[in-house]
Amino acid sequence: MERPLTGDQSLVKQINKSIVFTTIVGKGPISRAQISKNTGLNKATVSTMVAELIDEQMIYEIGSSQSSGGRKPVMLYFNSHAGYAVGVDLGVNYILGVLTDLSGNKMEEVHIPIEKREFNEVVESLKSVIQTLLIKAPESVYGVVGIGIGVPGIVDKEKKILFAPNLNWNNINLKEIIEKEYNIPTIIENEANSGAHGEQLYGAGKHISNLIYVSIGIGIGTGIIIDNKLYTGVSGISGEMGHITIEANGRKCSCGNRGCWELYASEQVILNDAKNSIHENSVLDFNGLVNEAFKGNPLILQLLNTLGENIGIGLTNIINTFNPEVIIIGNRISQFKNWISNPIEHILSERLLPYHKDKTEIRFSELGKHSCALGAASFAISGFLAEKKVSEQYK
Ligand SMILES: [Zn+2]
Repeated sequence: MERPLTGDQSLVKQINKSIVFTTIVGKGPISRAQISKNTGLNKATVSTMVAELIDEQMIYEIGSSQSSGGRKPVMLYFNSHAGYAVGVDLGVNYILGVLTDLSGNKMEEVHIPIEKREFNEVVESLKSVIQTLLIKAPESVYGVVGIGIGVPGIVDKEKKILFAPNLNWNNINLKEIIEKEYNIPTIIENEANSGAHGEQLYGAGKHISNLIYVSIGIGIGTGIIIDNKLYTGVSGISGEMGHITIEANGRKCSCGNRGCWELYASEQVILNDAKNSIHENSVLDFNGLVNEAFKGNPLILQLLNTLGENIGIGLTNIINTFNPEVIIIGNRISQFKNWISNPIEHILSERLLPYHKDKTEIRFSELGKHSCALGAASFAISGFLAEKKVSEQYK
């Protein structure tokens, strides 16, 4: 008969199990003996934890066949298809949803434009994207384990959307709405925080402990990772760098301030400026702008040069404040990389002390338009693993 564990023993067991699981996820395929060697846990403990994890179908084993060199060790693999996650990037003018396995590999993708920004219509569109992805999820042990949604607004520690100025939303409990509809744990996070998390796990920020992800779309948001942890501030709403002032008496912003960075350096600015400076009858959307840039339209190239310089001005403030190892420019503006990276570099060289300039590298998003959706999915996965008590990596 096993004696019931005391509180301390149960905690130790949980920690050991999480160490074994994390080792298999990170270093698998790996044998029991290698896990023991890597972690310093004794072989009996490793075997017990492995048996439990196999029982839960979180891992599986392959091997044990005879070979000419003797018996091959049994290797352990993370069962990344034990469940799936949905990640959604709720943009101001589009919704992008992905279905991923538990390793964050993208299996399916749905993209729809948002034409009307009324709350009910956006929520209906959001539900249709989620529904489509849920139907596409293959059969699995745990099914869809979570839904993560990155939103263009201020999200507090309780994951309530306090304010999404570009959608005109105030005090919205989207988590409750989605959980009620699907009965699946749902995580709401600011889109820039999701993007930062996604890029650090799977993209341009891999193995970087101190980075700032700058999401430039219709507005500008930043996700701040310090010492491998997302920094969210006392109420969870840090990173509103789009509203730092770069023109003391500049344009009036919906946030109440004047001269905010995002009024000079976002997708919205270039869309407006292009509308004003190109012959009246042509209506340019974002993709139209990208096409014009590729064609070498001198007016658009001029606008992109100014945009790059304005982006650079905001970045000098970020670099002076955080001294980050890497800044990752993400969201749709990264499609203009070819035309904005030189003006950005010029401004940084002109305006920063060399100590700052030399140590910070400017990169563009590797996940491109998927960074927010993949990051949101990874929050959902981390939430599930924490719930199953096999990982503490939920950040
Ligand atoms: Zn503002």
